[in-house]
Amino acid sequence: MPMIMNYKCSNCDFELPSGWGGYTYVVDAKGKRIVCPHPVELSIIEKVLGPDVSREERQRKTGFNSHCICMKCLKQFDADFNIMESGEPKDPRRCPKCKSVNVLTENELVGKTCPKCKKGTIQELSTGCKS
Ligand SMILES: [Zn+2]
Ligand SMILES: [Zn+2]
Repeated sequence: MPMIMNYKCSNCDFELPSGWGGYTYVVDAKGKRIVCPHPVELSIIEKVLGPDVSREERQRKTGFNSHCICMKCLKQFDADFNIMESGEPKDPRRCPKCKSVNVLTENELVGKTCPKCKKGTIQELSTGCKS
């Protein structure tokens, strides 16, 4: 079980969604990403894809969305930057709002300078809770 973490600036009130950086998703028949919250992700995947799905198809239709932040305009969004077999990331690393490519995932932001106040550092703090 992963620990639930809080992500916040050491200086200002800036914070990111707590958790462990993102969530598992499954793509339904319409191509929509369905959030699979822990610890019931497996039952949701089975419900969406059906019980007879092959391992390959299941791998292709599931993924991990990371909480991302644009370092330029502070827009927060979810995206999957995992590299596919083609060598391309599943989602382009680009802000949906200002189109900046200066986008970091929550995990990458840990230890970096806060994009809001530019003084503090983003810290990863354990809440002490397990999911
Ligand atoms: Zn800050
Ligand atoms: Zn942006």
